[in-house]
Amino acid sequence: MDYEGFFKERLGTLHEDGNYRTFADLARRRGGYPVATHHEGGQVSDVLVWCSNDYLGQGQNAEVIAAMHTALDECGAGAGGTRNISGTNHYHVLLEQELASLHQREAALIFTSGYVANVTALSTLGMGLPGCLIYSDAFNHNSMIEGIRHSRADKRVFKHNDPEDLDRLMSADDPDAPKMVVFESVYSMDGDIAPLDEILSVCEKHNAISYLDEVHAVGMYGPTGAGVAERDGVMDRVTVMQGTLAKGFGVVGGYIAASTALVDYIRSFGNGFIFTTSMPPAVAAGALTSVRHVRGAQDLRDRHQERARTLKTKLKQAGLPVMPSVSHIVPVLVGDARLCKDASDALMTRHSIYVQPINYPTVPRGTERLRITPTPLHTDDMMDRLVEALVEVWADLSLERAA
Ligand code: PLP
Repeated sequence: MDYEGFFKERLGTLHEDGNYRTFADLARRRGGYPVATHHEGGQVSDVLVWCSNDYLGQGQNAEVIAAMHTALDECGAGAGGTRNISGTNHYHVLLEQELASLHQREAALIFTSGYVANVTALSTLGMGLPGCLIYSDAFNHNSMIEGIRHSRADKRVFKHNDPEDLDRLMSADDPDAPKMVVFESVYSMDGDIAPLDEILSVCEKHNAISYLDEVHAVGMYGPTGAGVAERDGVMDRVTVMQGTLAKGFGVVGGYIAASTALVDYIRSFGNGFIFTTSMPPAVAAGALTSVRHVRGAQDLRDRHQERARTLKTKLKQAGLPVMPSVSHIVPVLVGDARLCKDASDALMTRHSIYVQPINYPTVPRGTERLRITPTPLHTDDMMDRLVEALVEVWADLSLERAA
């Protein structure tokens, strides 16, 4: 086989469809967020970042950075092993205790990323529970889809955010079969939020495990930042809470929080937990400090929501097609892969504004968009600059405006 030819041909298709991904080469600046240095073709310039998942700016929080420095000086660079063989650092233990407490659970378990947490927890549960049936929301993230696939359990996909469809599917199955319902709270590309109370009621009716991904909510929703389940007063009804340390908490890593027995089960049987080196102690220390800080930072959560509301209003007033979103995520519809990339390029080259295009397969074809994520650190002036630039780009590319 002509291997090189194969790779090039497949990449050629991506180019033709306008779905080839290019990465912005950025250097984040300590204390400078949301401004970053952009490297391109040997040139460097400042850009204003509008699409980061460092939603609260915690990646630049001075306390978090100081904690990482301290742990680096105390412990050195790497963890030194897998959790089982010499790689459990005291910072890992403290972080797990903090996360269990955040979610009011008996125990928590950390992983090297939110992705790994989902793949490992879902594959381990689905594989282990005999005859387990898994019900997955149609819009679930790839990490959950892959975790379910690896479990080899029978899967049913229920309509997005539709408890009635879920109930219908569950009612058609063996009432005695073990069941698990897998869903998210904030869906990150549309910014909509699941009806948690209703979905959990269906789970309870059918005696199913509920597995809730709060990756785009932890730190940002609920009185202590434990997520939408906390905000909605239903956290105690969720069997497995899953989250990330990378977005609202600004560092890296993922976790689950659940009962002692369930967490111990994943710890003991989860390949993606067992057979990999644990996160560096400095990362765990940074995440620990961030979680502790964010738990008490209601002002940050309020400001974050206010920034999102303000930006949505400004975009709407300018006639730009903001998609409906009830969260901090602000998607603006373009509806075409190539135009979406062109719009993003024009923002970068002409306005020094960075918003990554979101194309298929991350979103369905025809719904390509610019996904904007205002943070507490984005000012009114920055918003006005963004809106002006978008209006100009929309006109230049003859993009569709709001109806
Ligand atoms: N779950 C959802 C819903 C996500 O959107 C993502 C990533 O964006 C993940 C899990 C993976 O989290 P992480 O970035 O920590 O690997």
